[in-house]
Amino acid sequence: MIELDHGIRLKGTSLWLDATWVKDFSFVSHAHQDHVAAHKNIICSTHTASLFRRPMPKARIMAHPFHTPFEQDHLRLELYPAGHILGSSQILIEKDQTRIVYTGDFKLKKNLTAEPAELVPCDILIMESTFGRPAYIFPEREVVIQQIVRFIEDAIENRLVPVLYAYILGKGQEVTKILGDRGYKVCLSQQIYQMVKVYEALGVPFKNFELMEGDNFYGKVLILPPFLARSKMVQRIKRKRTAFLSGWALDPTTPHRLGVDEAFPLSDHADFEELLTYVRAVKPSLVYTLHGFPEFAAHLRKQGIRAKHLEPKMQLTFWED
Ligand SMILES: [Zn+2]
Repeated sequence: MIELDHGIRLKGTSLWLDATWVKDFSFVSHAHQDHVAAHKNIICSTHTASLFRRPMPKARIMAHPFHTPFEQDHLRLELYPAGHILGSSQILIEKDQTRIVYTGDFKLKKNLTAEPAELVPCDILIMESTFGRPAYIFPEREVVIQQIVRFIEDAIENRLVPVLYAYILGKGQEVTKILGDRGYKVCLSQQIYQMVKVYEALGVPFKNFELMEGDNFYGKVLILPPFLARSKMVQRIKRKRTAFLSGWALDPTTPHRLGVDEAFPLSDHADFEELLTYVRAVKPSLVYTLHGFPEFAAHLRKQGIRAKHLEPKMQLTFWED
């Protein structure tokens, strides 16, 4: 059985998966704030342990490298890269000869600043389905990068400052790497800059970036977290063009909703096709989907694959179902 209570737990075990409320023992798939709580005992990848943004002095953090099986509470466990952000991890749980994989947030397509994701064969797959609708098929990455480059070039030609909004951890580093490697001078908010420095310390090289200072940004690209969009610091920049980087850019209403000029679908999640690719490749006998749309589980069922969407606080039979 799976128990859901601000996280998933395999019944008969003490292991929670990405619990958002404090538990005795939880796997933390990656360092995004919505996946982290100060559990008493945490299993995570070694890079994830370095990327936690708030101190957790009471937590016992058991950091493991990828591809190195270990035992904990009578379970055989192993971590595999998820390709979502640096350190993001899937976990393989072997119990009673059943292989259960929990993907956490994942992305199969190329990402310059995360370890490439792997498809992990299993009997039961517990996967995210954030973009689990056919409308969410992202354009090729190079096409998206070209759109971003064109946006920057147009802005600079018109003596406007290009401002890109990207999440502090993951997207902020990915776009810094993409643009810095192409020779753009990128100015980063304090929060994104700090995480770039942590990525560097963990072995990801970056070029042409600096901390945002002063008020003369002409010829440079600003990379800021979305919450700064309405800040005085940004309001002071009168001549600017703004864009939001996210898979949600595929919704035509996104720019209007967020009050930006443009949105580009640079995502660190799997799109609809990547979700299907994972399921088809590992051929699980049962799929549980989490986050996003229940339609993805329905879509799998139409293809003859046993699948259920997990809702918070729902309980269901795990082994017999
Ligand atoms: Zn995430």
